[in-house]
Amino acid sequence: MPNALLATKGLTIAADDVPLLHDIDLTIESGTTHVLMGPNGAGKSTLGHALMGDPEYTATAGSIVFDGQDITEFSPDKRSTAGLFMSFQAPVEVPGVPLFTFLRAIVAQRPDLKLRGPKLKKRILEIMAQLDMDPSYLDRELNVGFSGGEKKKVEMLQLLLLQPKLAILDETDSGLDVDALDTVSRAIRIYQDEMQGTLLMITHNTRILEHLDVDQVHVLVRGRLVDAGCASLINEINDHGFERYVGQAGSGAASVAAAKAKAEAKAAAVKQETHFDVAAAIENMEAALEAADEQAGE
Ligand code: ADP
Ligand code: MG
Repeated sequence: MPNALLATKGLTIAADDVPLLHDIDLTIESGTTHVLMGPNGAGKSTLGHALMGDPEYTATAGSIVFDGQDITEFSPDKRSTAGLFMSFQAPVEVPGVPLFTFLRAIVAQRPDLKLRGPKLKKRILEIMAQLDMDPSYLDRELNVGFSGGEKKKVEMLQLLLLQPKLAILDETDSGLDVDALDTVSRAIRIYQDEMQGTLLMITHNTRILEHLDVDQVHVLVRGRLVDAGCASLINEINDHGFERYVGQAGSGAASVAAAKAKAEAKAAAVKQETHFDVAAAIENMEAALEAADEQAGE
């Protein structure tokens, strides 16, 4: 297929041996905007996490090809270097790590951006101005005590800084007030227009879509893609909901409910681990960066 940036074929995803997504065929062409809709618990976030290589999820069948490479077995950091990005539904708080340190650490993984020292700071301040963000946030601990809107702005700051080839935005608009929603849509438009970015937007809120050009809409119900269409499908779903799809999707619901209990039991422990790992990794990287800067006489 010409210009397919992302193509999944027969992708089947399980967590703890429980299948959550079935036979997903999804093709996203470079420079296009796709929207993924579906009722709560359909598996939308699971698909995003699986595309990013979250170790919680295993591909038990099928493949993911991204930018000409089969990334089905790639680690999350390799996928990120390849140009995949995901903005999380609930961004993680990392006590002890200032926002600037975090941004510096993620940019260090992307030498192709050629952003070091004063150039990096300049670029970050430029984006913060576009996002109406106070530069003093750079010294604050990552996401700690940030409002929902501020956390989403930090995600948008990462998006515009890293300029990924494909951005998966998971409910980036949920719970935002009008001003924050405005800022987030502005950031997405900059990514679309100035960076020719490619988007997979997971959303309930169709207001954010009013200001964006949408090329294709996909409907996910009970772990299966049951419909696709052009932007007008959004209005149809607004009017009629997902009722008409539920019969088509089969009985994935039982296994999904079984998985839910397990997932919830695990969630607290996983969250704790994630905090620790992220902070430790950034600390190590920061020390290495400082040593390198000293050597380079910066
Ligand atoms: P959506 O984003 O569409 O609301 P999710 O992808 O978050 O739905 O979840 C789909 C279903 O998969 C839910 O029932 C959820 O409990 C289950 N699930 C998600 N992650 C896991 C996991 N790690 N282990 C087991 N079940 C999970
Ligand atoms: Mg979700």
